[in-house]
Amino acid sequence: MRTGILSKQTLLILLVGTLFGYTVVPRLVETSSLAESVAVKPFTEDRHLRQDDVILKMVENNKLLAMHSLPTDRSPNVMKTAVLSDYRRKKILVTGGAGFVGSHLVDKLMMEGHEVTVVDNFFTGQKKNVAHWMHHPNFSLVVHDVTEPLMAEVDEIYHLACPASPPHYQFNSVKTIKTSTEGTLNMLGLAKRVKARILLTSTSEIYGDPQVHPQREDYWGNVNPIGPRSCYDEGKRVAETMMYSYKEQSDVDVRVARIFNTFGPRMHPNDGRVVSNFIIQALQGKPMTVYGEGDQTRSFQYVSDLVDGLHALMNGDYDGPVNLGNPDEFTMKEFAKYVKDLTDSKSEIRFLDKTTDDPSKRRPDISLAKKKLNWQPRVTVEEGLRHTIDYFQGVLDEAGEIIPTGPGASKPQN
Ligand code: NAD
Ligand code: UDP
Ligand code: UDP
Repeated sequence: MRTGILSKQTLLILLVGTLFGYTVVPRLVETSSLAESVAVKPFTEDRHLRQDDVILKMVENNKLLAMHSLPTDRSPNVMKTAVLSDYRRKKILVTGGAGFVGSHLVDKLMMEGHEVTVVDNFFTGQKKNVAHWMHHPNFSLVVHDVTEPLMAEVDEIYHLACPASPPHYQFNSVKTIKTSTEGTLNMLGLAKRVKARILLTSTSEIYGDPQVHPQREDYWGNVNPIGPRSCYDEGKRVAETMMYSYKEQSDVDVRVARIFNTFGPRMHPNDGRVVSNFIIQALQGKPMTVYGEGDQTRSFQYVSDLVDGLHALMNGDYDGPVNLGNPDEFTMKEFAKYVKDLTDSKSEIRFLDKTTDDPSKRRPDISLAKKKLNWQPRVTVEEGLRHTIDYFQGVLDEAGEIIPTGPGASKPQN
């Protein structure tokens, strides 16, 4: 009996004690910690343990973050990064790495476990293209214009910085020329000083309006030196010349990719290129704008194939210019119809004026890439377009409406 009463008393004391502990003590602690928010209190044994737990969690989370990308709207899939030994991990600079192609290349290099530094002035690139790596210890972003000298210690340079869509490279044509000339000169000076291998992303535009079809690397091209496209075409031609002059004169280890029309997720929705324009127009039921009669041809490659090609070129021995593209060729008229069908769109196909110096045909001969790099495209145009259509549907869901950029020079919109 007595034991039972005592037990009830003990229980009561315990209950009151517990209530006191839960209600009054935290308030005291709260008040005192507010009053002393600046002072660091010595840890009790108990708090010390909790602090250790916090540190442990931070270390664990940090390790976890250092092994993956973070999902974002632009890059919802989590990408795992390999861990390389110091000996195998390279320091790689990617100029223009916040752009369309650059950001996909960065993904590949990051996943391989290298230390990647992106240098970009955000003219046509967007921070959100690389936001999924911003927390990662192997990743650095430097906001810098390549027309200014750059000091860095790197093993490899992928030099992509340059606007690529006609409306954007024509917006400030003098700046486009400076980017291709002064920018490439600076990157070559850097490559020479640190003895880094450097890869230039040149273009099929160096063949101009070609009189040879399909285009092989030994064709010298047919370029108007004073037309609206020449700031880009001639800029890249000089950039190529500089690459081989630095190789001859200063023994710089160079690689040159001549890239043919490439498409995929993270293309700038307002860059006015044909793939983004047709998809965005078709998805919104707006007229699909074909410039001229639509008989001009282009051959389209999916971005992952290009990234594999750039990687193979950088890591191979061949140092002459190499075409990277998918020989699957369409007239723009056919292509509009193709995109219309794939998007199940009711858009009208509308013919606008032809643009000046628009090349009438373009298709890569990729036998050199096959032979020297053992590379060829693996993604069909249809498969690539389906991914890109899904991507632009997401961009449209977020934006509401997009009015694609027309044929004239235009400032990139965010
Ligand atoms: P993009 O416009 O998306 O990317 C270019 C990047 O370079 C952007 O991030 C931009 O902000 C940056 N940039 C421009 N000028 C700069 C400067 N002065 N300093 C620092 N950064 C600068 O274009 P993209 O399609 O990703 O093209 C990448 C490269 O590939 C370019 O060199 C382009 O000429 C070449 N290329 C692309 C294609 C294609 O179809 N996408 C075809 C042929 C060649
Ligand atoms: N440069 C650079 N980073 C370097 C080394 C050079 O940006 O680490 C620039 C340099 O400012 C110069 C250009 O690259 O404008 C060409 O350098 P190079 O050494 O070939 O020419 P020089 O400086 O002798 O004219
Ligand atoms: N083009 C078109 N409608 C558009 C955008 C482009 O018919 O809305 C045509 C353009 O005239 C060119 C082709 O599509 O013949 C490819 O244009 P893009 O700007 O994509 O690349 P590039 O001309 O540099 O190959």
